[in-house]
Amino acid sequence: VRVRLLRVSPTPRLHLTIDGPYEASDTEDGRVLGWGRRLDDGWLVPEGSAALALNGARLNAVEVRLCSRDPAKAFRVGETVYPGALRVRNTGAGSIDVVSELPLETYLEGVVGAEMPASFPEEALRAQAIAARTYAVYDLLHRSAAAPPGADLDDSVRSQVYLGRDAATPRAVAAVRATRGLVLLSEGRPFRAYFHSTCGGETTDPGIAFGEVRFPPTLRGVHCGACGESPHARWSCRLGPADLEAVAKSFGLAGSGVRVTPETTASGARLRTLRIATDRGERRVTALDFRLAAGPERVRSTWWTRYAMEDGNLVVEGRGWGHGVGLCQYGARARAQAGATASEILDRYYPGATLGCAWPEPADAEAAGARP
Ligand SMILES: [Zn+2]
Repeated sequence: VRVRLLRVSPTPRLHLTIDGPYEASDTEDGRVLGWGRRLDDGWLVPEGSAALALNGARLNAVEVRLCSRDPAKAFRVGETVYPGALRVRNTGAGSIDVVSELPLETYLEGVVGAEMPASFPEEALRAQAIAARTYAVYDLLHRSAAAPPGADLDDSVRSQVYLGRDAATPRAVAAVRATRGLVLLSEGRPFRAYFHSTCGGETTDPGIAFGEVRFPPTLRGVHCGACGESPHARWSCRLGPADLEAVAKSFGLAGSGVRVTPETTASGARLRTLRIATDRGERRVTALDFRLAAGPERVRSTWWTRYAMEDGNLVVEGRGWGHGVGLCQYGARARAQAGATASEILDRYYPGATLGCAWPEPADAEAAGARP
């Protein structure tokens, strides 16, 4: 596993720049279709149903690979810099599919930079790098039917957030390189090594958090007790009548006078389901779905320590930020500050997991833009 694809987005036209030499080739047969010394203001559009055009110049192929000829330079799409090559495809429906093609390790540098603050201690960043690599390798090995066509991974929160090369801070890059190839294993196999900002004191398992029926023992909930310094250790929110009506409506429930009643609590006091009632009916929804509908930035977790309906408002106090499964990032930070190594941190949050190497050293041959 050296180079994998990452979907960027489908779009009717694409703005591209690169401040160095590049070439465009047919992905099917490698035929060079065009080149340039630089591209200051490039617009790529579909032409007919089987070709593309870059600033009016026809590129006669359904799918084109755009490559930098200088490994130090990279294409910028909108605001995002994508190291490696870009594959652009005429979808035949008036839009372009864009896939960034880059070495997995390079991808991880951007992921770690986007997912954990660069100010976190080195060993916490290394633990994050190993968790993110494990998550990505698991996804590569278990591509679902829902995966985007022509791509292995998604660049959104559905997979891991990827914000391009600019997110790859020097400390994120160092953490990825120091842990190159290392993944977590459960009974010899990579697993979806979930992580989140702040657990609130106890982590939970994917059964409670997501309703997953089967999950490896390495993802069971553990005592954290280290994230009390997190700014997200405790939170509160107030959802007004209009907010609650919008949430109810998103579950197909019309009416007003919304009342929300938490129904069940799981171990560690995280909610599993709650009931939403209006003057027209009621629904039972999972706490996860409720949180996503109400806004995960406002309802920061499903660990509610107090809730009340006050004059039509739902008032909640809770603990932690995120789903609470796997690595607690603020807990990892505190442990690293207290002298724990990445391996000790991972041992705490993925109990029983072992470390393995997904691919051999060395890194030298793996230049940006290398082809599989
Ligand atoms: Zn924690």
